[in-house]
Amino acid sequence: MGGSNPTGEWGGRKVERMGLTICVLGSSSQGNCTYVGTDTTALLVDAGFSARETLRRMEEVGLEPARVQGILVTHEHSDHTQGLGVLHRRFGWPVYANSATADKVDRMPLFEEQPILWRIFQTGQHFRIGDIEVESFSVPHDAGDPVGFRFGAGGVRVGLVTDMGMATTLIRERLRPCRALVVEANHDEDLLKNSGRPWSLIQRILSRHGHLSNGALAELLGEIGHGQMTDVFLAHLSEECNKPELACWEVLRALQSRRQSHIRIHLTYPDRPSERLTIEPEKADGTGTP
Ligand SMILES: [Zn+2]
Ligand SMILES: [Zn+2]
Repeated sequence: MGGSNPTGEWGGRKVERMGLTICVLGSSSQGNCTYVGTDTTALLVDAGFSARETLRRMEEVGLEPARVQGILVTHEHSDHTQGLGVLHRRFGWPVYANSATADKVDRMPLFEEQPILWRIFQTGQHFRIGDIEVESFSVPHDAGDPVGFRFGAGGVRVGLVTDMGMATTLIRERLRPCRALVVEANHDEDLLKNSGRPWSLIQRILSRHGHLSNGALAELLGEIGHGQMTDVFLAHLSEECNKPELACWEVLRALQSRRQSHIRIHLTYPDRPSERLTIEPEKADGTGTP
């Protein structure tokens, strides 16, 4: 476990700082929402908690609603979208998704009566919101057109992929240059296989379009970890089929064996925000600012 970087104030006070700040407001199969921001731009990725709960967590970490400039949606599953409609209507925050995800969300009963005014992007497209460069890329998962995101600002890149059945070559390529990651450590394979869940569900989770295991994430990080990668948040942990200490242990073991033990591992939680980190640009001498 790593400690957080000392950072300045959020909210009302202007802070001179470069780089990207990350805070996972909550993550599990019950709900997902992550803040990514700079001093001037605040984005949410997914809105998987009720509007009230999202606002409660934002307040807890000092993120004012007036600062939010958009919600980016990875895919239509309700643990990523259930607060979307109310937040969109109440605050007018623009909602960004690709057309397949937008279509699927529009057909959900929750959204039929008050549809969302989407801002549609094409998967793979780069676009800018405020001072953050956003790039989406395809991930394998049982949804319409699920994506991961890479964010760039002030010379820092941060990657986010939660629901993914496997770490494809594309995912590895997109995440490799990042200084920090939010990535899925969904389940321990043994706990999942012995969970007593229906075999069809177990097969779905284990499939190429399901969710990433601790072991598969450890292998991914062992391969793409590098000297300038400083922090990894473990996300979307199954409450029944994983244990935080198991996920951390597997990942740390893989990083150690690849001589990448400088990378700090951070947990995310179903019921509360993670620590928030500001990832600063590397110094000119290339030493980074861990
Ligand atoms: Zn999910
Ligand atoms: Zn999903």
